[in-house]
Amino acid sequence: MTAPDCDHGEKVAYPDGETAARALVECKISRALHNNTRRRARRAYECRHCHRWFLTSRPDLFATAS
Ligand SMILES: [Zn+2]
Repeated sequence: MTAPDCDHGEKVAYPDGETAARALVECKISRALHNNTRRRARRAYECRHCHRWFLTSRPDLFATAS
């Protein structure tokens, strides 16, 4: 269910901002515990095309969940 204008590809999607924010916290904890530098999610944002939520490492993306 990916709208044509979406640019997030097959990323993990979250149904709402609260869920995405929780996942973001878990991601940060995981990085801190395991020094995992591959998951660099910094913030959550809502896709304005499909209205699902995603995590991103880009600080310059439109909407924010926090
Ligand atoms: Zn989308």
